[in-house]
Amino acid sequence: MAIWNLGSINADMVYAVPHLPRPGETLAATELSHFLGGKGANMSVAAARAGATVHHIGAVGPDGRWTVGRLADYGVDTEHVAQVTVPTGHAIIAVEETGENLIVLFPGANQEIAVEQLEQALAGAKAGDLLVMQNETNAQVEAAQMGRERGLKVCYAAAPFDAEAVSALLPHLDFLILNEVEAEQLQQATGLAPSELPVAQVIVTLGSKGVRYFDSDTGESQEFPAYKVKAVDTTGAGDTFTGYVLAGMDQGMSMPQAIDLAMRAAAIMVTRHGTADVIPLLDDVRQARL
Ligand code: ADP
Repeated sequence: MAIWNLGSINADMVYAVPHLPRPGETLAATELSHFLGGKGANMSVAAARAGATVHHIGAVGPDGRWTVGRLADYGVDTEHVAQVTVPTGHAIIAVEETGENLIVLFPGANQEIAVEQLEQALAGAKAGDLLVMQNETNAQVEAAQMGRERGLKVCYAAAPFDAEAVSALLPHLDFLILNEVEAEQLQQATGLAPSELPVAQVIVTLGSKGVRYFDSDTGESQEFPAYKVKAVDTTGAGDTFTGYVLAGMDQGMSMPQAIDLAMRAAAIMVTRHGTADVIPLLDDVRQARL
């Protein structure tokens, strides 16, 4: 089986600065580092590191070839990443010594995914494959409908949260992942608690408290306490969790097994600084003493 990820690809440009610039201030940075970013790319890397076959569907501009190269280096199939004329999605991140940061995000090419591109990509998918999306690209509803028509299981990680975007997708989903804040926001917008949503399987991640899982077919609800670790950087925890849980499902694990594997991976992730480059490998996740 395989995972198809309609997902964002960002170039993260991290500038070390003596302090965050004030309005009107021009400030020289002392260092610049380039990283592959975007929730979509992070999920693809996590699922690939968990051992899944991952096809990324996305778009970058002429300036973004290196991001695609990096995705491929991480073991993700990039055949369906298009090159368009608008610039690659990017984040300009200024970080001062205290760790306090300031971020300017430009979605760019992530909003330029063509319906024909989706059709071409999903023509290679098989019934039973997984299609995942997050809210950083265009064409989410079109992709979900296409996925359903082809017999794929459609999964959505509702981040960054937008009530309209999730509501439009709800009728087309098999599987929904929300964090605690997103679950509350969705309940406010729809009046529905996670257990009442018209989606077969709903996972709510609760940060250091773990995970709550609802299965509407069985009416079952389960809680999973998180592994106890010393968290130093929670960036990418949710994306690592999502990539790993999908890879577990794709490999035929039961949902509790897939959740446990994903919680292990996410627990290791929060002990590390960084994003895609430090998402743990399956062997490390299996062998870690947590
Ligand atoms: P998001 O990053 O999307 O807000 P969460 O913060 O809920 O997502 O984290 C996703 C998962 O990562 C959690 O369900 C948990 O398994 C794991 N996790 C996050 N923070 C911690 C932590 N401090 N200790 C252990 N596990 C954590």
